[in-house]
Amino acid sequence: MPFWIDTHCHWDAPEFDADRDALRAAAQAVGVAHCVIPAVERSNWATVRELAHRWGDSYALGIHPLYTGRAAEDDIDALADRLEACRDDPRLVAIGEIGLDFFVPGLDAERQTWFYEQQLQLARRFDLPVILHVRRSSDQLLRALRRWPVQGGIAHAFNGSLQQAQQFIERGFALGFGGALTYERALHLRRLVQQLPMQAIVVETDAPDIPPHWLYTLAEQRDAGQAQGRNQPAEIPRIADVMVALRAEAHPDEALAAADWQLATSANAARVLPRLGPLLPGAVKGSAHG
Ligand code: ZN
Repeated sequence: MPFWIDTHCHWDAPEFDADRDALRAAAQAVGVAHCVIPAVERSNWATVRELAHRWGDSYALGIHPLYTGRAAEDDIDALADRLEACRDDPRLVAIGEIGLDFFVPGLDAERQTWFYEQQLQLARRFDLPVILHVRRSSDQLLRALRRWPVQGGIAHAFNGSLQQAQQFIERGFALGFGGALTYERALHLRRLVQQLPMQAIVVETDAPDIPPHWLYTLAEQRDAGQAQGRNQPAEIPRIADVMVALRAEAHPDEALAAADWQLATSANAARVLPRLGPLLPGAVKGSAHG
């Protein structure tokens, strides 16, 4: 039985309100056996926890950079209280989604940075890895990580340079890749997946966002107001097939089967999110050392 992990799915998003449980079952049916559900703001902390417990998944707690505009400073205290309360919850695996976004216009850079740095300090205090939102912000994220080193985590939807990727890897991070690399024109991302060490890569959807190319037309329909074309974790095996093909092209000697890729990337996820390991079946955990 395959055991894919979607290391980044926003299952609480309103796009899933009508059929969330059915889609989780559909993902399970194609072998996506575990999802990591990151939070985005104070109002969804209880929801991501409830969903993770309902399905046997895991979750992260944090304030997403795109939500820092409406977050209050004392949400950081509330986050600290919540982390304290969930300390013994085995399904809490990280602080996230946190980070910096210098792509979306209209965000206050100073305010984003304040929330990011406060949450890095919480990651240190609670000894948790972090799930990072990286958008035109690798250097700034790394600078803060040098000041407040954390145990690592995942740089999700990574699209920085190879050199920036290596700096994240040196700091204990894996890089998350998903639907974006299914586009043939995504040359930079595709090259990254070919050049990075296999140990540095984890698979994710960021659902309902970042649909793979085969959902793209439908995504345009969604933007036009139709509830179609959203990304979902059941796409993971097909996204992973694209990764396997890219790896095979660059490393013919690796002779990677989809099953190997699944075991390797799941083991990577368990390594960078140590609390994930005990939630996974033995075969996946075992390969972390192999
Ligand atoms: Zn996200």
